[in-house]
Amino acid sequence: MKTDLKALDLSETERWAIAQGLEPFRGRQIRRWLFGKMARSFEEMTDLPKSLRSTLPEKASITCLETVKILESRDGTRKHLFMSEDNLLIESVLIPEKDHDTLCISSQAGCAMGCRFCLTGKQGLARNLRASEIIEQVIQVKRGLREPQRLTNIVFMGMGEPLANYNAVLRAINNLIRSDGMNFSHRKVTLSTCGLVPQLRTLGKDTTVNLAVSLNAADDSTRSYLMPINNKYPLKTLMAACREFPLPNRRMITFEYILINGINDRDEDAIGLARLLSGLRAKVNLIPLNPYPGTGMEPATMEKILRFQEILLDNHYTAIVRKSKGRDIMAACGQLSGLREGSIGAAA
Ligand code: SAH
Ligand code: SF4
Repeated sequence: MKTDLKALDLSETERWAIAQGLEPFRGRQIRRWLFGKMARSFEEMTDLPKSLRSTLPEKASITCLETVKILESRDGTRKHLFMSEDNLLIESVLIPEKDHDTLCISSQAGCAMGCRFCLTGKQGLARNLRASEIIEQVIQVKRGLREPQRLTNIVFMGMGEPLANYNAVLRAINNLIRSDGMNFSHRKVTLSTCGLVPQLRTLGKDTTVNLAVSLNAADDSTRSYLMPINNKYPLKTLMAACREFPLPNRRMITFEYILINGINDRDEDAIGLARLLSGLRAKVNLIPLNPYPGTGMEPATMEKILRFQEILLDNHYTAIVRKSKGRDIMAACGQLSGLREGSIGAAA
């Protein structure tokens, strides 16, 4: 097996270099090419001796994803479709904002969590992505940007449940935020989870990136109906883990709440949510459901959404209504399926 260099950290890369009979500084040098200059082959690494450039490909690999297609939405959102070596489609979504760009990346091909409202969940899990495939989404998109320095924010809100692929996600995060990696600020990287409690507890010890929790309901029966994971880790257990999650100064946990007509959009739900969050440093993202064909569910009305927000604001929570971006290209939350374009009718 060749060594997958984009999955290693600095000390592992140095150790690998030594094992090849090289000076350890070659490890650092190679990482500069991979993550700083975003090289796609050893051939590009012009400060390595020529003989080394020609022998390295036998021993190590540079994982690259093939871009299959880039779909641009009317609102400027761009969905990048990548193909893995084993022909799986991986989706990343670039969301341009006023003064920066945010990239939403995938951690798995598909997802095993089965949330009722989510198209990725409907598809089931194909496999975990490797650490190198996760970070490669960032590298590929950044390489193609006219102003790469604008890409400052990364969110794990694409396909998959990041905490179900813990080790690879943690490796990717570390290479994203280390100065010897891609050097993103840990304050600008956010991991979103449906609430795998044991991994959530470990995450707080292993990294300092932001946490977002997909809540979507304030009582167990509604949440279990929408998100089967709630049967395993009910709200009491999940909220206890959130309360114990270490938050660096002034940091907050983001709670995501999809508003679905007649299911979780009543006044009582908003009041229940405010109660659930009491004592937590929390902000709430309210997301109107993005419908896809066959859900049998509709977004809450704008009137209900604003009323829901008002109740949270009255209870002194920050609550933002997220405008849905990229709907017309099926790039919005919960619309990522890894299916070929055209296979879900509404993708036009
Ligand atoms: N698995 C992780 C991260 C990926 S899902 C998680 O569940 O948090 C990212 C976000 O998309 C979650 O907040 C989820 O609640 C949201 N989402 C999924 N399906 C959606 C839909 N149909 N409409 C709006 N948001 C959706
Ligand atoms: Fe998986 Fe997240 Fe979709 Fe649930 S919402 S099925 S956890 S990707």
